Amino acid sequence: MKVIDHIAKAKKSLFSFEILPPLIGDDMKDIFSTLDPLMEFNPPFIDVTYHREEFIYLEKENGLLQKKTISKRPGTVRVCASIMNKYGIDAVPHIICGGVNRQMTENALIEINFLGIDNVLVLRGDPLKTEKSFFAKKNGHKYAIELVKQVQDLNKGKYLDKNLERKNAPLFDFCIGVAGYPEKHLEAPNIERDLFFLKKKIESGANYIVTQMFFDNKKFFSFVKKCRSEGISVPIIPGIKPISSKKQLNILPSRFYLNIPNELVKEIEKAKDKKSVSKIGIEWAIHQSKELKDSGIEVIHYYTMDKPENIYKIVKAIY
Ligand code: FAD
Repeated sequence: MKVIDHIAKAKKSLFSFEILPPLIGDDMKDIFSTLDPLMEFNPPFIDVTYHREEFIYLEKENGLLQKKTISKRPGTVRVCASIMNKYGIDAVPHIICGGVNRQMTENALIEINFLGIDNVLVLRGDPLKTEKSFFAKKNGHKYAIELVKQVQDLNKGKYLDKNLERKNAPLFDFCIGVAGYPEKHLEAPNIERDLFFLKKKIESGANYIVTQMFFDNKKFFSFVKKCRSEGISVPIIPGIKPISSKKQLNILPSRFYLNIPNELVKEIEKAKDKKSVSKIGIEWAIHQSKELKDSGIEVIHYYTMDKPENIYKIVKAIY
């Protein structure tokens, strides 16, 4: 079922969360053991992130460097299929522009459709660690909006290969999510410009927005207000992540361009050990979730980042 239909039919506030595919060499059993406890709360859908291939350089015996491609977390679509098969709930694969061309994307979308997956979260992806800025692959997409248009083309029966456009071709009807940034995307010159392109993604056919994490609900409420005044009327799903280590006080702002309120920073700095940091992070996320739920938000989306036990505690307190 489509994410927007889950939202439309919901009688109470829902929650969803995103997981990472297992590291290469790890087992799906580990994913299931993290998901099993959360099933108690009937999540309507689970997102599975996409991790593009990276390049590493290996030193050979003769001293020369050899470029090697590695895929640390492959299998996004297959993980989605396993989740749907085991739990009978919707799984949303993330698809990105980075590292793939249009044909590869079309093939992936055909496969996703074969598996009966109704939703995709469409993203550009970040630059590789070795790149200063994002580069599209030859014949790939530079911005998420172009990928939204490709998904929409398939929804209208338009393939890259025109020979595939025949009478009984499989039908596509993907519900499309896109990313939004309450504190603006780190590359955007200002929030207005970022919203301008967000609106273009919606006008190109995106059906809902999931936000980057934020730690101050005022930023989210102000973002929603600005979106609405720009004429963006689709559901906006807030993204919440509990802080779980002191290091994240520096990593999260620099990686995701966001602010952490001073009150939370001070509490975490005072914490004596990791367990106390996690406790503070969870309490903060519970407080944020309660306020969002009370304001009538339809779905809250949690970033598990490999710490599903923290999400369990938050959801148990809220739902
Ligand atoms: P875009 O919408 O393309 O925007 C990127 C930047 O370009 C913005 O600054 C925007 O203002 C600007 N822009 C947009 N269109 C144009 C245009 N036409 N001309 C000029 N400027 C333009 N990354 C992964 O690799 N895998 C994941 O699974 C993943 N999941 C995510 C889930 C969520 C909910 C979020 C919020 C992010 C996720 N990301 C993921 C990270 C995401 O890929 C990065 O934040 C990336 O840098 C931007 O992606 P986007 O889709 O917002 O890009």
